[in-house]
Amino acid sequence: MTTTRFAPSPTGYLHLGHAFSALFAAKQGDRFLLRIEDIDPVRCKPEFAEALFEDLSWLGLSWEKPVRFQSQHFEDYRANLEKLRAMDLLYPCFCTRSEILAATHAPHEGETPVYPGTCHRLSKDQREDWMATKPYAWRLNVEKAIKMTGPLSWHDAAKGEQQAKPQIFGDIVLARKDIPASYHLCVVTDDALQNIDLVTRGEDLFDSTHIHRLLQALLDLPTPDYHHHPLCRDAKGWRLAKRDKSVTLRSMREQGRTPEQVRNEVLGLLHT
Ligand SMILES: [Zn+2]
Repeated sequence: MTTTRFAPSPTGYLHLGHAFSALFAAKQGDRFLLRIEDIDPVRCKPEFAEALFEDLSWLGLSWEKPVRFQSQHFEDYRANLEKLRAMDLLYPCFCTRSEILAATHAPHEGETPVYPGTCHRLSKDQREDWMATKPYAWRLNVEKAIKMTGPLSWHDAAKGEQQAKPQIFGDIVLARKDIPASYHLCVVTDDALQNIDLVTRGEDLFDSTHIHRLLQALLDLPTPDYHHHPLCRDAKGWRLAKRDKSVTLRSMREQGRTPEQVRNEVLGLLHT
């Protein structure tokens, strides 16, 4: 019995790309769960969560209830953050966004810039001083974490056995200054709590899995199988995005298209 999930953020209306991800996950799972990734109160809106339930139902999908809203489970994320802190794997980062941008370098063109570990080098006194007066994020000391776990691997259904390379991101943020959690921490926590054994998602999140595998090992959580699928692109080869109003499920429904037509269109968009 395989449990899968579709885990959108309610930051806009669902488009064809989301429809594909949701249909893909539902097809692979004997149990299919929906999870609302809404830890960011500025970008996420309850009305978009309502709209996505409506759109997914219209598309013919059903899921187990209750749906897990991440914004209601900060205590779960805090508990895992505390475990990592007790293992002395976290340090506070006081850098502002512009300080980070000025100090970072992208390893290769187009890659995510890696944080240079500035705050890891602060003296104990300086750190304690600033913790009392400045806002800070918690970063994972990835090098130390890797030494603790040793080499790790994970399995991707499309690409086979993968060696985890969590160091490609540098010391990632696990709790933000404004939000006491982060995408990586929440996903890993929830996938374990919800007994997800097959994580399906777009290949844009392939690299995140390196970090997720590391966090699973550190927190002693099971490692699901993964299936990263190609992203849907329009006729010009552009990746579908929320800004493309024309391809929202909502607008397609208003234009009189049937769920079946949309399902077929989604499958046709998949460039493998
Ligand atoms: Zn810093």
